[in-house]
Amino acid sequence: MERLNIIPKPNKIDFLGGEVLIEPSKAEFLIDENLGAEEYVLTATENVLRICGGSQQALFYGKQTLRQLRGICPCVKIEDKPAFEYRGFMLDCVRHIFSIDEVKKLIDAAASLKMNRFHWHLTDDQGFRAWVSRRPSAAIDGSVRKSSDFGSLNESGEYGGYYTTEQMKEIVDYCAERFITVIPEFDVPGHCSAILHAYPDIGCTGNPVEVKTYQGIFEDILCAGKDKTFEIVFDILEDLLEIFPSEYIHIGGDEAPKAHWKTCPDCQKRMEQVGLKNEEELQGWFTNRIVDFLKSKGRKAIVWNESLKSGLIGNGTVAQMWMDPKKDSVKFANNGGRIIISDFFHYYCDYPYAMTPLDKTYNYKAIVSGIKNAESVCGVEVPIWTEYINNFERLCFMFFPRFAAVAETGWTNQQNKNASDFRRRFKEYSSILSQIGIKAAAPHEWNPSPVARAVGTLDFMNKNVRNKPKKQ
Ligand SMILES: [Zn+2]
Repeated sequence: MERLNIIPKPNKIDFLGGEVLIEPSKAEFLIDENLGAEEYVLTATENVLRICGGSQQALFYGKQTLRQLRGICPCVKIEDKPAFEYRGFMLDCVRHIFSIDEVKKLIDAAASLKMNRFHWHLTDDQGFRAWVSRRPSAAIDGSVRKSSDFGSLNESGEYGGYYTTEQMKEIVDYCAERFITVIPEFDVPGHCSAILHAYPDIGCTGNPVEVKTYQGIFEDILCAGKDKTFEIVFDILEDLLEIFPSEYIHIGGDEAPKAHWKTCPDCQKRMEQVGLKNEEELQGWFTNRIVDFLKSKGRKAIVWNESLKSGLIGNGTVAQMWMDPKKDSVKFANNGGRIIISDFFHYYCDYPYAMTPLDKTYNYKAIVSGIKNAESVCGVEVPIWTEYINNFERLCFMFFPRFAAVAETGWTNQQNKNASDFRRRFKEYSSILSQIGIKAAAPHEWNPSPVARAVGTLDFMNKNVRNKPKKQ
């Protein structure tokens, strides 16, 4: 049977008959302006091994395909381009930090899978992990927590660390060489305990705030009434804009409880001055003020879907849909907004295979019911949060192969996808991961039996959810 072992599966493969020994060093690369910016054509016959692409990026993708054609292969013509323009992965470096070399390994894997976005979650309640020259206290004071109490992962002793400007630039350059854009995330106004530890006066109460040692949703959020808040937020963004050339900057906006805003005189005064009906609208106003700042610098924002609750977010901003029971994302998309899909129940790789088996991730269709225009979906992103992951080996176990499954959904048209074929191809692709230094979960872990799923789910909940320390 003629078949290839390529991930993501190319969208059009013509078998030309016969076989050929692939010798990558003999490949020729040609720019063809008739092809799209991410579109390539690879021809492998006895006489020719050629990749034509619409741009250097397209040639790079052709090269990634060639890398997976090894030894003696059927003669083929592959005509290929992605299903979605946005194909990303997200790494939480707050709950646990990963070294630059480890981050580069994930980037290598993403590049081999033709992904083109790296969403770098750098700030949260449990640490602030980016050096900010304009506000040094953010990293110096905000990066250190007293211990780590994440359910089953309890580690005594201080935990800290942040990336220097040089390190972040190194990652930006490393990604650029692989046609990947780095989108940094500075999460506001919620998930801000670390920044509030460094700058307590931009909280509503002004009281000291601890860098959190455990997971959760915390009431310490940035004050929307104080002008000082925006001075500090803009200073931090200025630094990030100098390091990250990405058109889009992620400004979070998820899980921001409004308890403090409801009683804060500054926040209430702001609502009255600006003419806002409630605190959700205040978050919308807060977000838009940052969006306007980014716009003045030629940039745009990505926000988590909770930011859409106010109904005030303009459609130049992109929304990342992770959990959206009220379908705010659908309304947003149907009013001209664009969304990235990172569905919690299918794509969150910090949850065990018992809860999110590989086939569940793979078979998820990147289509949102109710969205009228398919173009409103930019693409897909596979996130991993690291409360329960404190080393690279565990990170890779949880991420792969689900990471590759989402990469395939991003690239391969729905009608060309097939879960069992993907599992077969992934076993071949594992050798590329090995070269990179990544060890995926073994095949018996991917799709647990119903009993193993129930046991694994209960085990995870017992270890990590029920023993969660009480909210502050
Ligand atoms: Zn306030």
